[in-house]
Amino acid sequence: MILVAKYIITGDGRTLLKDHAVRVEGDKITEVGPLGEMLQKYPGEPVEDYGDATILPGLIDLHQHLGTYIHYSNVLQFNDFLLAYKALHAAQEAFAVGVTTIRDVSSDHLLVEKMRQAAKLGYVDVPRLYHCDRGITMTGGHADQITNIKNECEVADGIDELRKAIRGQLRAGADWIKVMDSHRVLTRPEFSQEELDFIVQETHRLERKCCVHAGVGPSVQMSIDAGFDTIEHATFMTEDQAKQMKEKGLAWIPTIITYTWAAEVYADENNQPVQNAPQSIKNFWWFFQLASQSYRDNFKKLYDTGVFVGAGTDMVMAGSPPAPLAMELEYYVRYGVPVLEAIKCGTANNAKILDAEDRFGMIREGLSADILVCEGDVSSDIKQLQKVKKVFLEGKCRYEA
Ligand SMILES: [Zn+2]
Repeated sequence: MILVAKYIITGDGRTLLKDHAVRVEGDKITEVGPLGEMLQKYPGEPVEDYGDATILPGLIDLHQHLGTYIHYSNVLQFNDFLLAYKALHAAQEAFAVGVTTIRDVSSDHLLVEKMRQAAKLGYVDVPRLYHCDRGITMTGGHADQITNIKNECEVADGIDELRKAIRGQLRAGADWIKVMDSHRVLTRPEFSQEELDFIVQETHRLERKCCVHAGVGPSVQMSIDAGFDTIEHATFMTEDQAKQMKEKGLAWIPTIITYTWAAEVYADENNQPVQNAPQSIKNFWWFFQLASQSYRDNFKKLYDTGVFVGAGTDMVMAGSPPAPLAMELEYYVRYGVPVLEAIKCGTANNAKILDAEDRFGMIREGLSADILVCEGDVSSDIKQLQKVKKVFLEGKCRYEA
């Protein structure tokens, strides 16, 4: 099959091809080349011509919680069955916004692992899944607030319990270890430096990677010192810290939309929350303001340090759009990052973070045919990334507008 569109963005952060075509055979991209040559070389091969459209790699969302419902107003309705349906719905919705790979960074125990098994068995059709099973929190840590009503995090304190928790997560199928450290509004540290250092050491010893929720306070620096492979949020990171991350080869998942979307969608003309905003958003209104300002003022400066930037969305609030990676990348561009580089963050960079750059994440010969087709010229207007026409995962169409 030969796919044709006026524009092709390969995902390397620089390349925009015009009058080119992508050849897909089975689940792989087998060739990318000039349209005329391809048609000559493969006469009779079916051609899908999307016209004034852009072909680019399927998006990768590195910060999802498919099983989240704790901030929903109907939280009391949830049991394991409704939770499984909700998580499946969230995963399937992701295709419609161009997302072909998801890293879930804490849902209920075994929820995403069983979804992945169900996909393998052909029961469900969902994006490619990576997960950390459950996030690990200390007793009294911010994520411990929910462990008494919900199975989404695991409590562990001290080296011995952490060792057991990490091994338990890996036994449950986790690809990554996730640590919950420092909440939005609480600036006190959670895990000790000794504990954070140990988590990284033990996870790396077992040949996996680890990520940490670190937003504010001393937690960002402590996480850099420990050497977590990805630092999630780091909302108030300094330029010096970004440089340290670059030096240590750590990646940043900023999740701008997590804070900025709520601050924009629910604001009245005086920048106060509108009356019908969910209570969970009203409660944190001042924080959403501070966080969104910080990203607006600092994101480009931090990006320019050369720190390795991926992308994820973390939209856990009630009423949030599903897997809005394209919207997240629009913030990157709004704050000064060139479009092709923003797309690289949400595709090739994320694939590299997953150690999968030789399997997917770009429009390149030999890689998995994870392909997104959007209307118009995405390279000149990042908003077009939200106008999804067609989505392929491993060469198979999963969504068509
Ligand atoms: Zn999160």
